[in-house]
Amino acid sequence: MKKYGMVIDTKLCVGCGACVVACKTENDVPEGLHRDWLVEEVTGKFPNLHMEIRSERCNHCSDTPCVSSCPTGASHIKKGSNIVKVDPNKCTGCQACVVSCPYNARFVMPEGYVSKCTFCDHRVEKGESPACASVCPTHAIVFGDLNNPMSRVSRLLRARKFKTIIPEAGTDPNVYYLI
Ligand code: SF4
Ligand code: SF4
Ligand code: SF4
Repeated sequence: MKKYGMVIDTKLCVGCGACVVACKTENDVPEGLHRDWLVEEVTGKFPNLHMEIRSERCNHCSDTPCVSSCPTGASHIKKGSNIVKVDPNKCTGCQACVVSCPYNARFVMPEGYVSKCTFCDHRVEKGESPACASVCPTHAIVFGDLNNPMSRVSRLLRARKFKTIIPEAGTDPNVYYLI
């Protein structure tokens, strides 16, 4: 089984927003809603300040409160991988999944069903990278199979220091940030 993940290099991200625009275009995300977004975090004390810019999205977690809280099976894990998806036809819009996600990764579409990042699985099926990764001008976003020890994502995680966001939530996220 494929275990897809992203490894995002915070040292390469320049905050250009191309990943956010590409996602909106690729997935026809309505105005005001976002499947991915940028977070700017400043830490330290003047004059030793450090700014980190992170491109964030659904973490396609290994432990999924969004799936277990869904009463209809609309929120599910795609067969053969760990990609977490929503079937709009089964979604009642109850938002149980929205409140269970520690990452605020889900939103309600104007039509009433819930949506979020799919790792662009329609592109992945064709052997392509998600839109955000494919447009990043600094190649900060790397996508691949974490179960394959020879993939770029696996090699980066062996070679570099990394973190995940809100690990204490216990969802075992599959988006990693190189620090
Ligand atoms: Fe950062 Fe790349 Fe996104 Fe630009 S496209 S904000 S460099 S991750
Ligand atoms: Fe579910 Fe949220 Fe994890 Fe995505 S980030 S898999 S929506 S808990
Ligand atoms: Fe399931 Fe839809 Fe309710 Fe989310 S909003 S828990 S996907 S039925």
